[in-house]
Amino acid sequence: MPTIGIDLGTTNSCVAAFRNGRVEIIANDRGNRVTPSYVSFTMDERLVGEAAKEDVTSNYTNTLCQIKRLIGRTYDDPSVQADTKLWGFSVIDDDNKPKIPVIHSYKSNIFCPEQISAMVLEEMKNTAEAFLGETVTDAVITVPAYFNDAQRKATRDAGEIAGLNVIGMINEPTAAAVAYGLDRQCKSERNVLIFDLGGGTFDVTIVEIKGRKFFVKATGGDTHLGGEDFDNKLVEHFISEFKQQHGENISDNKRALNRLRVVCEEAKRKLSSSTQAKVQVDALQGGYDLRSGISRAKFENLNFDYFKRTLDTVKNTLTDSGIEKENIDDVVLVGGSTRIPKIREMLEKFFDYMELKRTINPDEAVAYGAAAYAFSLVTGKDTVMEEFVLQDVIPLSIGIENKSREMGVIIPRNTTIPTKKWNNRQTLKDNQEKMILKIFEGERALTKENHFLGAFTISGIPPAPRKEGKVRVLFEINASGILHVKAIEKITGNSSEITIARDKGRLSEREIKQMVREAEKFRQKDEELKQRSKAMNALEDFAYSVKDKMSQKYLTTRQKESLMSKVTEILHWLDINKKEPVEMSHLEAKKKELEQLWND
Ligand code: ADP
Ligand code: MG
Repeated sequence: MPTIGIDLGTTNSCVAAFRNGRVEIIANDRGNRVTPSYVSFTMDERLVGEAAKEDVTSNYTNTLCQIKRLIGRTYDDPSVQADTKLWGFSVIDDDNKPKIPVIHSYKSNIFCPEQISAMVLEEMKNTAEAFLGETVTDAVITVPAYFNDAQRKATRDAGEIAGLNVIGMINEPTAAAVAYGLDRQCKSERNVLIFDLGGGTFDVTIVEIKGRKFFVKATGGDTHLGGEDFDNKLVEHFISEFKQQHGENISDNKRALNRLRVVCEEAKRKLSSSTQAKVQVDALQGGYDLRSGISRAKFENLNFDYFKRTLDTVKNTLTDSGIEKENIDDVVLVGGSTRIPKIREMLEKFFDYMELKRTINPDEAVAYGAAAYAFSLVTGKDTVMEEFVLQDVIPLSIGIENKSREMGVIIPRNTTIPTKKWNNRQTLKDNQEKMILKIFEGERALTKENHFLGAFTISGIPPAPRKEGKVRVLFEINASGILHVKAIEKITGNSSEITIARDKGRLSEREIKQMVREAEKFRQKDEELKQRSKAMNALEDFAYSVKDKMSQKYLTTRQKESLMSKVTEILHWLDINKKEPVEMSHLEAKKKELEQLWND
């Protein structure tokens, strides 16, 4: 069975498979090699990809995008709060988990981000199956290098809901480095810096590549920085311009905001090749049109802080890696936003006018590397992938809370994974019976500034003077960057083991199973709808063809009349039932009636 690599992007997704000694990027049913990460719900259909994106201005409340910006985050996360203000669809608070209500088939449905991401993943799976002509279940899914534990786990859950067996996860820039290394076949050791700026996230990774061996030295980034933010700056700019010119405030008009965003994104892309771009929307609000434009210089000025932030991250990552910028051999650009001239210019200047590498496709490199990695995990028995070695790092430090609420780092960031580390804890009081362990992730000194991963209690510690009650904690991170923590109470010798609880906000096993079943129902419903709409079209065609052929045959007036009335009846019936497709049996019955009449 083939394995695939899926790049599940904020804006676009891409799928690839390793076949016949090479990686193939797989085109979707419209012939495109990347698919928009959009899902839209209509009265009778669920659409994914291009078809969904086309709905974004007309059916904006039910067209979902940028879901990767919600995954693994809590509702009160400031970035969630800021994002949802600008989106056409709504996001609600369910026990501090962001959820998305939509209307589908005249009913209201509430989805969690994992379910929507699962729909995109399933579309990529279907694309691969159509191309390969086989069932695909084993997949590697990519994540931004700077994703935290919750975001990684939620992405893995999405894979499970989509019916995939997630055999591994790989960091996006690392996957791109694999694509670059396999393509370039570096004989001698090279230090390569991957600069990955997409729609929603930004990553910098420094990798030492030698032949087919990849050693990640350091990674840095921002899980909330990308092209969508640049679009937002433009949107804000035109909101205020429109207000000034016409006294109309569109900030709360979701439809207007959505229409404006579409033209702003287009203008932004245009500015990568031209120095001016038009921004126009007819009847944006209050009967006024937006007739404006923007220059490249103004665009750069609006986004200056964002652009600068990317360079700061490059500097910090270099420091973490211990490699001087002079010793970076190649700088490789990945992600759609690296087409922005200013970003290239800043990078070039910083690296003393080194030529930036554009040999690999910035939109496909991540999926390419993921497919190669997936292949290496299952067999790897191919000359192309011989001696393949990949060693990644964790992006954020993992630690345990100390008594004064400080972060006691156990595994520092940029530690090579997989890794295992033991930590010994002592009781703080005489005869202390239990110990509460709180696990965090992040770089700040105080735990309250870091990301809480989970807590557990070890009880039943035998009475002992302070410092003599002892617990050992094992931190284990697998090759996909997923953390497991266990604690063993060792005084009695009968050590007890506890696996860290799933943190709040994450789906439980039961919920995932439930969602797998729901996804299966959706799949069946989609299939039924497809069959029905095919049958409806066929009946319509048949009715029209009968109408056409009537004039070519010798028929009595009565025959003509009865045929004509049947055709009209069927066309009318189809028309009124367009919205809510009818039962297959009804369709078949209608077709039979007309056939009978025609044959007679
Ligand atoms: P992701 O991996 O996050 O889904 P991509 O790497 O596909 O994102 O990049 C998508 C982003 O790239 C979008 O914000 C899009 O507007 C931006 N983009 C694509 N082409 C250009 C261009 N020519 N100039 C500037 N930005 C671009
Ligand atoms: Mg990407």
